[in-house]
Amino acid sequence: MGWQLHSFSLLAVAGHLFVDIFSIFIALFVSSIAQNRHHQKEIIKAWGALLNGFLLLGIAIFISVNVLINQEPSLTTEASFPLLGIAILGLIIKVINASLLSEPSHHNLNLRGVFFHAIADAVNFFSLIVAFFAIFFFGWLWVDRVASLGIICFMVVRDCS
Ligand SMILES: [Zn+2]
Repeated sequence: MGWQLHSFSLLAVAGHLFVDIFSIFIALFVSSIAQNRHHQKEIIKAWGALLNGFLLLGIAIFISVNVLINQEPSLTTEASFPLLGIAILGLIIKVINASLLSEPSHHNLNLRGVFFHAIADAVNFFSLIVAFFAIFFFGWLWVDRVASLGIICFMVVRDCS
């Protein structure tokens, strides 16, 4: 949808979700390895983190360069409606996600991290809604580019910290 609508902010969110899915896949794979193979687990975890970092930086650089260099007409006002639909859907899913994690996150440090991640993802979707209003009511198409850079910076900062 990001390509189709020429929306950089949607592409940034999609890129971020792709990195999320990749790290979930690595975590599932690591947890599927038998408990007694601790050494092997640690090695795969380290390689997974490294690959994840490269993937994240690759996506961040690719989208940032496109935002700055690609001067093709960005998102149009009419095309911003599907953007709103996706943003609302994403926000609802992430709020449900966070509310399900809220209780168990009090007792588990790992889940606490996942809980805050879900909230941060909700903020990303919320920024898409703000971008939609700026585009629809004021015709500020550049907000799409600014939002995408914001989402990319946010992703890099929180995953590197
Ligand atoms: Zn995420």
